[in-house]
Amino acid sequence: MPPSGSQGPRKKLAHSVPKFYGCYLLRSIPKQNSFYIGSTPDPVRRLRQHNGELKAGAYKTKRKGFRPWEMIMIVHGFPNKIAALQVTRITTSKTAGRSVHHKLGNVRLLLNAPFFNRMNLKVQIFNSETYKIWCTNKFGINLSNQLIHIDYNNIQETDEDLNIESVVNFKQAQIENDQKLLTKFKEMLQYGEKSCIVCDKTIDYIKTDTDYPLVGICYHDSCDHISHLSCLTTYFREQETEIDEKTADEIALQRLSQRIKISEITKLPKGNLIPQKAKCPSCDKTLIWSSLVRYSTMIRLVIGYDGKEPITELEELEGEVNDKYDDEAELELTQ
Ligand SMILES: [Zn+2]
Ligand SMILES: [Zn+2]
Repeated sequence: MPPSGSQGPRKKLAHSVPKFYGCYLLRSIPKQNSFYIGSTPDPVRRLRQHNGELKAGAYKTKRKGFRPWEMIMIVHGFPNKIAALQVTRITTSKTAGRSVHHKLGNVRLLLNAPFFNRMNLKVQIFNSETYKIWCTNKFGINLSNQLIHIDYNNIQETDEDLNIESVVNFKQAQIENDQKLLTKFKEMLQYGEKSCIVCDKTIDYIKTDTDYPLVGICYHDSCDHISHLSCLTTYFREQETEIDEKTADEIALQRLSQRIKISEITKLPKGNLIPQKAKCPSCDKTLIWSSLVRYSTMIRLVIGYDGKEPITELEELEGEVNDKYDDEAELELTQ
């Protein structure tokens, strides 16, 4: 592989569109009131580091008597690392409460805050006790965004080996889903010229010069909607209505900022908002804007864009990312 010249831009792209970026909550198995919150593009490697199975990194969870750590939850679907880091900072705030009820309550508050609400994040729970506590919802914080997906697959009892197995399965499922969609998209684009369903102009991903436009392709089964991403932006904006959720959002934000004094970062920028969701013009199912954008950028990477070699394995998107994209959060230890 040629030196830095060709790696540089790819690194940049991998950074701006990570295949996966998640915030995770660890709980010490021997000391159940001790938690760690971090963020990473690779939860499997990270968990192994926290438990000392991999030597490097994760020094804060090294302290004697607290290992093994169990990953009880992951919040994912962030559009970028910065957004994920904000979750880490807020949830580790000292005023955020110490019990697992508090931790999960804060996750609910965050999901309701306008800044995060628009991202339609996903929550994966790995542990049956955490699942019960999540359902109990001790502080009565109901999620205002129906699109937030809570996944109870891979739930296990507290056990170090079962936990790592669940996290591995979770990661594998993410990769397989992306792989499946990208294969479908790639086939669609390379089969021949397409027309943008919104503006009717040609979308050509088979020509030899590599100035490919960003495209929005529907990711629902048996739908072959394709359009320019820019055309879809207009379409989404027209469809988006200011929903009544606003009041619920404001209340949630108020509560959040009272509890945790980092209100400024969860404020929504005024005007010119990025779209959130809309019905697919072809199949009428809901499309999440952040997912469309993410796949749009990934398609160009797997097809080869701007003179760069195509990325053949999705793992490659992360390959060079590694440790420096992990975030070491504060640790809460209780003896
Ligand atoms: Zn168009
Ligand atoms: Zn569709």
